[in-house]
Amino acid sequence: MKELLSSILVCPNCKKPFSIKEETIWRCGQDGYEVRIHEGKPIFTSMPETAHVYEKVERGPEQGTPWRQANWKFLQNQVSGQDKEALILDVGSGHGDFAQIFANRNYLSVDIVPYPEVDLACDLGEVVPFKENTFDLLVLMNVLEHVYHFHQLLDSLFYLLKPGGSLVIAVPFMIKVHQAPFDFYRYTHYTLQDLAKEHGFEVELLEGYYDPIFFVGEGMRNLKFWVLPKLSRPIRWFARGILIFIEGLINLLKPFIGKGFVKSPDLAKNPAAIGYHLMLRKRVNSVVE
Ligand SMILES: [Zn+2]
Repeated sequence: MKELLSSILVCPNCKKPFSIKEETIWRCGQDGYEVRIHEGKPIFTSMPETAHVYEKVERGPEQGTPWRQANWKFLQNQVSGQDKEALILDVGSGHGDFAQIFANRNYLSVDIVPYPEVDLACDLGEVVPFKENTFDLLVLMNVLEHVYHFHQLLDSLFYLLKPGGSLVIAVPFMIKVHQAPFDFYRYTHYTLQDLAKEHGFEVELLEGYYDPIFFVGEGMRNLKFWVLPKLSRPIRWFARGILIFIEGLINLLKPFIGKGFVKSPDLAKNPAAIGYHLMLRKRVNSVVE
């Protein structure tokens, strides 16, 4: 187990450190709470090690869809603005898509699924094995749409964040259903703002990622993969030719339309954000009502 993790992990019931540490089980001396340790990882969920919701994909600043690349840039900016000593928790880290950004940082990763890349498996909406005000930065990259009970999770994240600390979120909007059936929501930026306030956060930054060319491309790919195969053969070939023609026309427009961009939804005045980036702050003198 990472030394950092073993130094801050506590019993979710009484918030005291685990006093009995065996190889495959840790036990709370106060109330007998037990957590299973699998290959050095505390497992607080019932998800089996074999449950892999999605396959590992190589990630990087120039890899994946334009949305993914925009996420990378956004997160890198947020992390590089942090203090050297900042304690960071990547929530719903999966296969460690952004792990490269956290290299040489005080960083832990958690997911409901015990992927090989995570430091611990835990559903923070239900079980919170850390003390209040522990982390300087919490990261929630493309996770919120996959959390059915998102209110509980946001409550836990607020609890875990140090006053003055920040919660960084990326969440898709005009992105198709993915990681099915574990895909539950799309949030408008109005909802995101209300959610932040409702859970005690201040919205320091809210930006949409807009990319009309990518958006059209998604529509074209939808036609290609989900509609064309259902057409009878001569019509299918005809439709394919039309699509190639349209793609050619759109390519001609590219120099004028340009690449994807990040902008405040109020300024962009475009209702079709691919997704949103947020930086929320826990106020230093936040009073829980
Ligand atoms: Zn306890």
